[in-house]
Parts: sequence; structure tokens; C-alpha cells
Amino acid sequence: MSSLTLGSWSPPQGHACPICGGHQVVFQGTQRDRRRGLTGEWTFWECAACSALFQYPIPSDDELRAFYAGYSNGSALRLSPTAGSRHDVLRRLYHLFSGDVDPRDFVKVSARARVLDYGCGVAPYISHFRSRGVLISGADITPSVVDAYQAAGMHVSLIQRLEEIPFADAEFDVVYMMQVLEHIARPNDLLQEVNRVLKPAGVLYVAVPNAKSPWRRIFGKYWVAGWFAPYHVFAYSQQPISVLAAAHGFEVAQSWSSTPESWLRLNMKAWLHRSNNRLDFLVGSWVDYLPVRMALAVALRLTEAFTTERDCLVLALKKISPQC
Ligand SMILES: [Zn+2]
Repeated sequence: MSSLTLGSWSPPQGHACPICGGHQVVFQGTQRDRRRGLTGEWTFWECAACSALFQYPIPSDDELRAFYAGYSNGSALRLSPTAGSRHDVLRRLYHLFSGDVDPRDFVKVSARARVLDYGCGVAPYISHFRSRGVLISGADITPSVVDAYQAAGMHVSLIQRLEEIPFADAEFDVVYMMQVLEHIARPNDLLQEVNRVLKPAGVLYVAVPNAKSPWRRIFGKYWVAGWFAPYHVFAYSQQPISVLAAAHGFEVAQSWSSTPESWLRLNMKAWLHRSNNRLDFLVGSWVDYLPVRMALAVALRLTEAFTTERDCLVLALKKISPQC
């Protein structure tokens, strides 16, 4: 890590927006890592044309590899069916209350469908879909995570480069990426790859932090659920994802957004515990107490009656043409 020039930056003069190619970009400020304790500062810019927010300089592959060393741990993998997988109706009701965005609630697939969870991490989704007869595979960049899945007999492949999907052409009916796209340094390359591995009329679901959320304005630099520098290379909203989709043979079939109370709590902790730069590991904050969480969830659901943009944006992108 010490050999890397973490956090160095220079104005992106002459450099285009990585999403739409626009040349007018506006300085948005620098962000620090408040969640995992990496030292450094990372600078974000906003494209005036498509409103994508992005780090510049974009981290190199070597820098990203250093950031992700130890990012997640296969020992946290939950392989036995969770309560959320056993009781679909209760899970959906709970998520309506909590605001959580969960692919088990909205990825519509039949048994025998071929599905890819790209960037699967240690979530319980693969075992859930497998228990329903779905032919699901996963891919992740952390070797210990991949090893843990494979030891349990699940089909999960190791990602060598985030923009290269380690599966054959036209293999999947559905690909979903939960909180993954914003981590990708070359999203055009990844969308091209998703188009390649999807069958005709296949569907890609993406869930990303929403830069148009009013919580970004309210929390500013404390909007750490969205910024999460340096791991989040981009902060998206509907417009730049629509640009990406159109450029790679997709159309937006559906979109919606929701603010998980856990994201609101994380942003609150960033504001309350300003000297803590390892918030993902913080225990004992009063905002984590159950009555506080319940009150926050109720408040969120009430306020969201008056907003159309929420913190977590979900889009269903349908493949309408093969990649050129
Ligand atoms: Zn742009």
C-alpha cells in the first residue's frame, strides 16, 4: 500500500466524462474514507451533461486491488436458509418498512432460469434462489468468499478484473448487481460484458446509491452511504445509467428508489462520530438501538411520501440489441 500514491489528484482538463464523453465537468469536493479506515483523499467531479459523479483520477487496477485487500471475508458467508428466505411475505413486509433493497423481492425468475449474481459478496441471495430451483451462479473478486461458496457446492467464479465477466456468451436470462456498478472503474466495459453474457431480451438489474437523493444534499460530506471513497468510483443517478444503457444495447424497463434505514443510520453515524473513520465496524452507537431504528424507519417512510428520489436507486435494464 505504501508504494501507491493514494489520493493524489489533478484537474481533469482535457479529460472527458467516463460515461457520456462530455467535456464540461465541475469540481464537487474531496472525500475521505469514513467506513474502512483507508487514509487519503479522493476528488469527485460532476459531468454537466449527464450528471454522473466520478472520481478523478480514476483509481488504477493496482490501487483498486490494494483497496480491496481484506474488504470482505468468506467466513461471514451465511449458507443455511435465513428467516428472510423462508418467509417471502414477511421479508417483503419487513423491507417495505425498513426500506431495504433486496433482489429476493424483485428479481423475477422462474425455476430453471439461468441467473448471475455479479459481485455476490457474502449475502444470502444465491442460496435463496438455488433453493427455489433457479440455476444461479455468482462471481466475486475476493478469493476467500469464492472459496467459501465453492466449498458449499455453489457455482461462484473468481473475478480477475471487475470489467471481465468470467462466463460464456449468451449464458444468462438475468444478471443482477447489487451495489456493484459504482465500484467499477470502467462501467462502459462492464455493460458491454453484461450484454455479451445475457441472452436476447435478458434483463440486468442494478442497484446503486442515488446521487439525486435529497439525503446527499442534507448530509453533504457525511453522505457516506453514497460517497464511500475510494471504493465508490462513481455516484450515479437515473440519467447517467440511462446513457450507459442506451450505449450498450439496453432500455430502461423499470426504475424505483428506496432509502434503507441502515443507510440513514450510517450517514447519521458519520455526522455523530466525526473522529471515527471505521464506521462499518462501529458498535454501541445509540442510533443502532432497536427503538431508534424503528423510529427512523417510520420517519423515513413518512418523509418518502413526499419525495420521488431516494437513496438507493434500482433499475431493470432490458437487452434490446446485441453489443456492436
Ligand atoms: Zn457525462
